[in-house]
Amino acid sequence: MVDVDRFDVLDELVGYTAARRMLAGLAEEIARTLPQCGRTRLGRGAVVVDWESTPAAAEAAAEALARALGRPVEVADYRFDLAVTIGVVEAGIGNRAEQLSAADRAVTTARRRHARVQIGAGDGVMPATDRLSLMRDLQKAIRDDTLELHYQPKVRARSGETVAAEALLRWNHPQRGYVPPAMFVPIAERTGDIAALTEWVVGRAIADQARLLRMGHTLTFDLNISGGLLADPGYGWRLLHHFTALQGLIGFEITETAMIGDPERALSNLQIFAEAGIRLAIDDYGSGFSSLAYLRQLPITELKIDRMFVANLTTSQRDPLLIRSTIDLAHALGMEVTAEGVDSPTTLALLQVMGCDQVQGYLLSRPLPLDRLATYLTAQRTPEAIAHQRRISG
Ligand code: C2E
Ligand code: MG
Ligand code: MG
Repeated sequence: MVDVDRFDVLDELVGYTAARRMLAGLAEEIARTLPQCGRTRLGRGAVVVDWESTPAAAEAAAEALARALGRPVEVADYRFDLAVTIGVVEAGIGNRAEQLSAADRAVTTARRRHARVQIGAGDGVMPATDRLSLMRDLQKAIRDDTLELHYQPKVRARSGETVAAEALLRWNHPQRGYVPPAMFVPIAERTGDIAALTEWVVGRAIADQARLLRMGHTLTFDLNISGGLLADPGYGWRLLHHFTALQGLIGFEITETAMIGDPERALSNLQIFAEAGIRLAIDDYGSGFSSLAYLRQLPITELKIDRMFVANLTTSQRDPLLIRSTIDLAHALGMEVTAEGVDSPTTLALLQVMGCDQVQGYLLSRPLPLDRLATYLTAQRTPEAIAHQRRISG
């Protein structure tokens, strides 16, 4: 789905007919860039393109298309700086309406991340009946305790020391196989099942932390809390009253976008968490629109820079500047900065130079089941590992 940015503004300025004429011109241009593709114009400023391609080629084509279409156009003698956002989803799954709705969600995701192109809609194109059965199975998995948590170490960028681990949901579905959290968490957020899911996560993490302690390791666990839950003013108390053993070794990661919905209610919940000794982090920072000036009003002690920015660190011109200034500003506001998705030595080296406090990513470790986390922590204590950590920290 090729969606024209600010089409409503254009509509208002030049009127219905001229705006539609411009959209028709856009569709022709798409045909020139991608011969043999099918095209459907949608009234609200989008063109749907059907194109036979591999996922990698589709991504490259979408990027090229976004570049080709992003330039000024004349509409009724008025110069409009055209920009498009493209959502790409796999056809052939679900019916047409479901595909369009998934493409539409991909466009929304792209806008939220300030990206031109988004491949996949998170929870994908899924027929409604499928969604229902997935949620039914999820409720059962929570009841039967068949979900898992894996833990990904967060490491101090200077010393290489592991300071915490992020808990990530793992669901091995008896028929579907591995279902990634990016698929079921967004649906659970919409159905409300996220509340029970979160309670399960907190309960399991506390139990796992106690098991880890018996294996000789004390480590903070950081849990992902869906921001939508914070809109409910009583949520903080309700969640905490289930748990007596938080003991200052739990952190919550809350996605940035969620905080903006209703800042006041979110704030009251965050204060309850902070007073209970839970460390609070903003997750996926940079994918939303909140300013640090806004975030400083919240009891937040850590900022996690979104994987997208970190991934572009070594190739983009702009992202290193953004990350560097974000780190400096966060420090000035008394927050620590974690970079997520660190998967190459070059990226790590750059982040160290920039003064990033903590790093997390495949380069350091993948998310691990609890017993392998214990092995990893033990290995970190060997003299060789300590020497290696010293080398990393230069
Ligand atoms: P997130 O909180 O931003 O988690 C980081 C994701 O990045 C994880 O994906 C992790 O496996 C992945 N990752 C870590 N290092 C690297 C790397 O070097 N390269 C790349 N490409 N990826 C890396 P995962 O486990 O699939 O989780 C996806 C998202 O699902 C999470 O994003 C989080 O938003 C959500 N999620 C996971 N567990 C929970 C949970 O218990 N509760 C809630 N509410 N959301 C959860
Ligand atoms: Mg997270
Ligand atoms: Mg994240």
